[in-house]
Amino acid sequence: MDSQIAAALQQVSAQQIQANVEKLVGFYTRSTLSVRDESLLKSGRGIVAARLWLVSEFERYSNECGGCLDVETYRAVQQPADRIATPTEITDVYAVLKGTDPANSRRIVLVTGHYDSRNSANDDATGFAPGANDDASGTAVSLECARVLSKMKFPATIVFLAVAGEEQGLYGSAHFAEMAKDRGWQIEAVLNNDIVGGDKNAAQNPSVVRVFSEGVPLAATEQDLRRMRYLGGESDSGSRELARYIAEVGRTYPTGVNPMLIFRVDRYLRGGDQESFDEQGFSAVRFTEYREDFHHQHQNPRTESGIEYGDLPKFVDYDYVARVARLNAATLASLALAPAPPANVHLLTKDLENNSTLTWDVSPGERATAYEILWRSTSAPDWEHQLLVGNVTRSTLQISKDEVIFAVRSTDGAGHRSLPVVPLPER
Ligand SMILES: [Zn+2]
Repeated sequence: MDSQIAAALQQVSAQQIQANVEKLVGFYTRSTLSVRDESLLKSGRGIVAARLWLVSEFERYSNECGGCLDVETYRAVQQPADRIATPTEITDVYAVLKGTDPANSRRIVLVTGHYDSRNSANDDATGFAPGANDDASGTAVSLECARVLSKMKFPATIVFLAVAGEEQGLYGSAHFAEMAKDRGWQIEAVLNNDIVGGDKNAAQNPSVVRVFSEGVPLAATEQDLRRMRYLGGESDSGSRELARYIAEVGRTYPTGVNPMLIFRVDRYLRGGDQESFDEQGFSAVRFTEYREDFHHQHQNPRTESGIEYGDLPKFVDYDYVARVARLNAATLASLALAPAPPANVHLLTKDLENNSTLTWDVSPGERATAYEILWRSTSAPDWEHQLLVGNVTRSTLQISKDEVIFAVRSTDGAGHRSLPVVPLPER
């Protein structure tokens, strides 16, 4: 545990998160389709008003840290598509906490939520659509991570993002992830928070958050798929390794919430912004509360047959959102303080033999002081063993590669660890 990270987690405030969720709900609707409605904007309502406030909130945090955040927007016009009738401007808002080490500042870890909302009718651009849980809660996690982590310095870069267009079909995140790919951003991890409000229902478990991750990558090539059919690896996407990393962070830091790893990209019938990043080959996970109440999502607020419908602030458990924000902040900070993962990790398979030799290139950025080899049984869900092998780029273990899955990660002298990298076979 890094005491600096532990101290930062104590700064995460349920009151601040509540104020931000209530502020977002106060825009009455954040429908992406409200973007052209001038009269809504004049009355302080709609997605444009919400976006302007997000920019001002990020700028407020930046002013408090001597201008440490670059506050930006990314705008794209979504052409008519599923649930978009006319060309619609979609604007994502983000703040960049630039890494302080020139050799590591190109590495990026990112946290996001979607700030748009909807009610019963996807095309209703003016009706009340509070979206307190879906997804003011996730937006508030991104904001709170920015507020707390901007008081620290990191060698790598952290991006705090809020996207729009999610309810029409993940459009804001799709445009953003494409832009990141086009610009050559080295994104190591994406934490998507969507429905992390801890809805106050009888079946809720306020000490658990579900973490969804893809298995076979959405971006897998035909060659990747062929290798998986023979050698496995269907549970070792970058996104899956990120999920395991989050589980480890959850065991290391007192966040108050336990990550429950779910080995699928999202829930049945649902999708999320993590998929947009997966499709571009980035590693991404989705955080969602343990038990959702579907009466409180995508509904016009109303009472019918004694059931209260609507995504209202009163159903949100702000202490829970704060716990999820702590888990996000601890993960972002751990990765941004860690050395880069080792490059070109290979498992030598030239000869038939019962031991295993791994090789890799040194971690770019010169922060690694040693490497760790992880392994587990092929049928085990999470890493079972780790071995510190020192500052070397080759290691042979008396373990049969036929029975286990290996990975290598970088560490520094202070206990920060990179994401693990699963080796490619090399003949
Ligand atoms: Zn959502």
